[in-house]
Amino acid sequence: MFNGIAASKGVAIGKAYILDSSKFCVVKHQLEPGKVDAEVRRLRDAIEQSKAQMQEIKKRASKVADKYAVILDTYTLLLEDEILVSDTIDRIRKDGINAEWALTQTLEKFGKLFSNINDEYLKGKKDDLDLVVQGILRNLIGHNQESLSEIEEPVVVVAHSLSASDTLMMPKSFVLGLATEVGGKTSHLGIFASALGIPAVVGVKGITEEANTGDLVVIDGIDGQILVNPSEKLLVQYKKKQDNYRRYEIKLLQDIHEPAETKDGTKIKILANIESAHEIKSLRKFGAEGVGLYRTEFLYMGSVTLPSEQELYENFKKVAQGSAPHPAIIRTLDIGMDKNPHFLNREDENNPALGLRGIRLSLAYPKLFISQLKAILRASLYGNLKILYPMISCVEEIRQANEFLQLAKNQLQEEEIPSHHEIEVGAMIETPAAAICIERILQEVDFVSIGTNDLIQYILAVDRINENVAHLYQPFHPAVLKTLKSIFNVAETAGKTVSICGELGGDPLATMLLLGLGKIDELSMEPHAIPKVKKILRKITLNEARKVADHALTLNSPEEVNRFIVAEMKSRFPADFNQNLDFEENSKSTAKTI
Ligand code: PEP
Ligand code: MG
Repeated sequence: MFNGIAASKGVAIGKAYILDSSKFCVVKHQLEPGKVDAEVRRLRDAIEQSKAQMQEIKKRASKVADKYAVILDTYTLLLEDEILVSDTIDRIRKDGINAEWALTQTLEKFGKLFSNINDEYLKGKKDDLDLVVQGILRNLIGHNQESLSEIEEPVVVVAHSLSASDTLMMPKSFVLGLATEVGGKTSHLGIFASALGIPAVVGVKGITEEANTGDLVVIDGIDGQILVNPSEKLLVQYKKKQDNYRRYEIKLLQDIHEPAETKDGTKIKILANIESAHEIKSLRKFGAEGVGLYRTEFLYMGSVTLPSEQELYENFKKVAQGSAPHPAIIRTLDIGMDKNPHFLNREDENNPALGLRGIRLSLAYPKLFISQLKAILRASLYGNLKILYPMISCVEEIRQANEFLQLAKNQLQEEEIPSHHEIEVGAMIETPAAAICIERILQEVDFVSIGTNDLIQYILAVDRINENVAHLYQPFHPAVLKTLKSIFNVAETAGKTVSICGELGGDPLATMLLLGLGKIDELSMEPHAIPKVKKILRKITLNEARKVADHALTLNSPEEVNRFIVAEMKSRFPADFNQNLDFEENSKSTAKTI
């Protein structure tokens, strides 16, 4: 049994197809005198070829999933990266060596820099860089990639790594499952596989050495495991797990359009988090009642230049129309920290999570901010749009942001551009300062949305993307629960809408606890998470949830809360929190009384 990271849910069983993605051999040779300029041109041509290939791949990718196409933009940006190119050209000129060798040396240099950094996000960037360089090398050498398009029967693809073009070449109907040695939770492969419903496990060290083409392989994308040539007994068990998981998924989607209402009549609105306008299509499929968080930064991240007001307007118009009659909450730009578009050309910060990010950056770049606000006001003619300010830490920031909003309205009026000016404004509660001063914040806004991803990071002083402290990132920490309870209580007294749009809101394990902590109006989450959360809400009463939350609040450590919640949810919902092989609905609840 091999352990990896579950990247796309489900179980796949089939014959292995090992992709020999071993890197081709690059040799060093000295250039003949006078051939340096030609060699530099050869490198530039190969990069241009890679860019054209990437454009082609992107066109196909957006048909698979828009989020996937956005990821490919990072590859394009790497191809545009002058540091990579100029470093390689310098080597060609200085050492008089061939482009292939110079490029490999550059990759090695950057690889060393990356390997000294313990950050999952940056490690992912190293994989991206590797894939991009392999593509350029292939063009320089004229080496064609082993093609997955030749697969002619259903297989489980096992590879060291899969590039974006590898995945797009695959005949999807023949790919039962995917396993790779590299990759983390946020790798492009997981997003690709989830969009297509193909089970996948990534980060499985040594799997290409242990498995051979033709071996029988089980990919367990639920628990992140891989079996090679399993015993008959295990195979029967995994076939059952596969069947049960399929049935479980179908059942979850059956009553997806029913409202999320507890047995005793408490209604919670369930909305979707989206990162691109195209995802609006998935709202109906997963029964979302609008968009609770549109992360607009991906519009900027994927672009080499600043998107124009007109481009933003057209994008927001799609979102407004697509979610109507339900609302769509557009979060203004939340760049900074791990997301920095190239065109801003910003200096590195020592503590980017505490730096110029979110609303701070928008207030520092008024033109950028106003153009986004104008686009939202124009698009709100086509639906019910609301504005959400990220990373608020004091009322003054909201006031300043609202001044810019007024300026945007005035400009639109002067320009005689049709727009809708009655728009609700909300603040994200994701800093301890905002949580502590919630009463004041609520006086300035129509609603608040709790960004638990950041709120947890800042309350616990634990970097959300640093794997060295990942074990300390504990959403069930008593400090987090107490903070949430206090926000809910104050918002209820103020009569203002409160929602959660961080990952915790879409974690079914937390659903009962959150409901019991106080009055929540809305939960916004990844569309895929909606069915399970809705199911849980429909099976509980507010009173039961309150008891669970009250008990959790008496516990002293995150571990105690975690143990209690896991045991409680497993016993109430055995089918949904099952770590063993059956996934069968158990009609008898074995819920404990607290
Ligand atoms: C959050 O911080 O919880 C949130 C929703 O914002 P993001 O994950 O985009 O920082
Ligand atoms: Mg955040």
